[in-house]
Amino acid sequence: MNKGKIKGHDLRSLAEKQLQGKTAETSAPASEEQARRLVHELEVHQIELEMQNDELRQARLTLETTLAKYTDLYDFAPVGYLTLERDGRITEANLAVTTLLDTVRSKLVGRRFALFVAPGARAAFNAFLAKTLEGQISESWEGPMLSERATPLFVRIEALTCTSGLKCRVAIIDLSLRRHLQLELARTHAELVSHDARLKESNIKLEAFNYTVSHDLKGPLATINGFAELLELELGNETSEKARSCLDFIRKAGRKMNELLEDLLEWSQTGRTVNLVDNLSLAAVTAEAVELLHIQIEARTADIRISDSLPLVKGDAKRLREMMQNLIENAIKYANPLTRPLVEIGEENSANGWTFYVRDNGIGIPAAYHEKIFDLFERLHTDRDGSGIGLAIVRRIIEEHGGRIWVESAGEGHGSTFFFTLSTGSDLQSVSPEEE
Ligand code: ADP
Repeated sequence: MNKGKIKGHDLRSLAEKQLQGKTAETSAPASEEQARRLVHELEVHQIELEMQNDELRQARLTLETTLAKYTDLYDFAPVGYLTLERDGRITEANLAVTTLLDTVRSKLVGRRFALFVAPGARAAFNAFLAKTLEGQISESWEGPMLSERATPLFVRIEALTCTSGLKCRVAIIDLSLRRHLQLELARTHAELVSHDARLKESNIKLEAFNYTVSHDLKGPLATINGFAELLELELGNETSEKARSCLDFIRKAGRKMNELLEDLLEWSQTGRTVNLVDNLSLAAVTAEAVELLHIQIEARTADIRISDSLPLVKGDAKRLREMMQNLIENAIKYANPLTRPLVEIGEENSANGWTFYVRDNGIGIPAAYHEKIFDLFERLHTDRDGSGIGLAIVRRIIEEHGGRIWVESAGEGHGSTFFFTLSTGSDLQSVSPEEE
């Protein structure tokens, strides 16, 4: 029991003793009137005491609620709170700290906090603590703590020295999950970079192989074609109908194979490097592509409309011309047989930058092929000439420029629109073909 505290019955006997003393000092009431006044006084005094008692009970209740609130706030806070002495010893710690360090409060209080920091990071932590105590300003530190958990414990510590300069208040925030994810992300990124490098290397090798094979095959093919022609001449009119048709097949197959080899060679030569220049006029590049296609355009009396507000872009003129030529040529090639081809080349500007398009009123492309047609040798309409390389080249050129290409079409008979993005650099002025 507390020394200064007096139990209920002790208090009573003390009061009685005091009263006896007082009774001895004071003489008995002189009259009945005096006795009545005394009783009244006592009754009032008793009521006063009861009121005081009520107030005290109320104050105790408030105190208890405040204490409960404080305990709840401090102990059950989602963040660890500690108080450290100047020498780094723990004087107080809330429940979050015990959970975080997987220990009990009795094993924390009185020990130096640095002992719970991972050994490799202790020197850095001590330096941080010394700086905090010196400066009396809020400081923070991030580092690993000792832990038995599978995931290493990594925390952020915010510390502030009390105004007395004798203690330091510390908050600990668990960053283990964030740290784990950061490390995972860095590892995946490194893996991706190395994968990408290997992929690039293997692509270069494949392209070199492709080039060598297509180049080397051209020689024997020329021999086959040459000898087929020679044989036809040699046999002259004496050739039977069957032999003539066989020779015809050989020559057609030879021509087709030659075309394929030419396209493959072009594909492997579509270099990965682009010679980028700023402020390149896409309008001029498009006009050149149209000029190169004048035979096809005239043959189908195609209507080609180029927007007069195409902006300047950052790009390689030769490659972009090749890209435009391919897209416009396809727009004419895959036109509806009974409709005059209409090809519109334009731009759209949005918050994400410029998007360009080549739109036609042709035979359209079913949704299932919107991705595939950009792959090598993928052809949808085999009734028309072609080898399925054009769009693969177009995609490669756009990607080498850091852009994206895709097609939109409501399906067969509804035309197609090829969209692509390009960097426009800092200068976004637009120049019409006439201005150049
Ligand atoms: P190619 O024209 O030599 O077949 P591409 O790679 O240029 O090769 O095109 C691949 C396929 O995409 C074409 O065979 C065709 O089926 C389809 N295609 C391309 N452009 C269009 C277009 N503007 N309209 C409809 N289909 C198209």
